[in-house]
Amino acid sequence: MKSRIHYTKPSITELEVSYATDAARNGWGERCYECIAKFEQLFRDHLDVKYAIATSSCTGAMHMGLAALDIGSGDEVILGDTNWIASAAPITYVGAKPVLVDVLPDTWCVDPAKVEAAITPNTKAIIAVHLYGNLCDMDALLAIGERHGIPVIEDAAEAVGSEWKGKRAGSIGAFGTFSFHGTKTLTTGEGGMFVTQDKRLYEKVLTLSNHGRAAGQTKQFWPDMTGFKYKMSNMQAAIGCAQMERIDELIAAKRRIFKYYEDGLNGLPLVMNPELSGTRNGYWMPTILVHEGVRFDREALLETFNSEEIDGRVFFWPLSMLPMFADQPEHHISYGLYKRAVNLPSYHDLTENEMLRVIACVRSQF
Ligand SMILES: *Cc1c(COP(=O)(O)O)cnc(C)c1O
Repeated sequence: MKSRIHYTKPSITELEVSYATDAARNGWGERCYECIAKFEQLFRDHLDVKYAIATSSCTGAMHMGLAALDIGSGDEVILGDTNWIASAAPITYVGAKPVLVDVLPDTWCVDPAKVEAAITPNTKAIIAVHLYGNLCDMDALLAIGERHGIPVIEDAAEAVGSEWKGKRAGSIGAFGTFSFHGTKTLTTGEGGMFVTQDKRLYEKVLTLSNHGRAAGQTKQFWPDMTGFKYKMSNMQAAIGCAQMERIDELIAAKRRIFKYYEDGLNGLPLVMNPELSGTRNGYWMPTILVHEGVRFDREALLETFNSEEIDGRVFFWPLSMLPMFADQPEHHISYGLYKRAVNLPSYHDLTENEMLRVIACVRSQF
């Protein structure tokens, strides 16, 4: 019997178990925020940012961040068409409109020229999603943001371990958001983080995150505005603290796995996640993209994977193909990428033998 190779899996050691156990036993009453505060501090230090707020998800962190920027009905927010729905959905929660633009052929991230062309008087933000750990062109996006007076937000859910010119992904824009869902490089089961260097924005999100109760408000049960409830629990944060102690190891594992695939697939008519000069890729999800014009059937590869007890995943569909958006087939890059691309399994304790099985399946397609 071949072992099942999962698409992804968290790395949970005795450290996570002991911290979670301790939080379950003792993390109540006066100590009910202890692990949350510690996790936020460890994450701030890792990212080198001033402020961080742990949340129940990345989606919630994004929702609060957009609300704190006063984005609402009639406003537009620009993001790449190739994306996961979680980056676009919060835009609709605040009543604004996601404006989808095409992506770049090499990084699969939003095309800055297309962003600038899509700006209207209603544009209130640009969301830079670092897809699969690949970096958006932050210099170009920040320059566009500055020219038009529009904040650039980073969705760094997939970009733990990724860096742009020495700065960690998520620490560069007006604010950054992270996900600690079970499939992500660092996990708390479910969870997220809002980070920023902007004190005013931090204080606003802090108030919003506490059901609108301002930090200085002394009256009990007295919200000053309608806020949100997207908090992380102390037990989740305990797991997060353990993961933060192991963050370098977790990132190194992602990079080791990527390199192994890259070497093993050498010579095939495909590319994998780029690591452009000046960037470092956290390689959350190793992805193959077959050259245009080469015969390749992604369904056939996924079926081969399945028969060999391997989980593969399809590349993100263009969001504009989904039923709730209008088709935008003029986005030639987004509409060309997904058919030629597949995500490969990647998790901490994936063995060499298992990676060789994945490589053999991919090789069998050419
Ligand atoms: C996983 C993911 C999210 C959503 O994270 P949740 O914590 O599940 O809300 C958002 N954006 C991107 C790019 C993601 O990959």
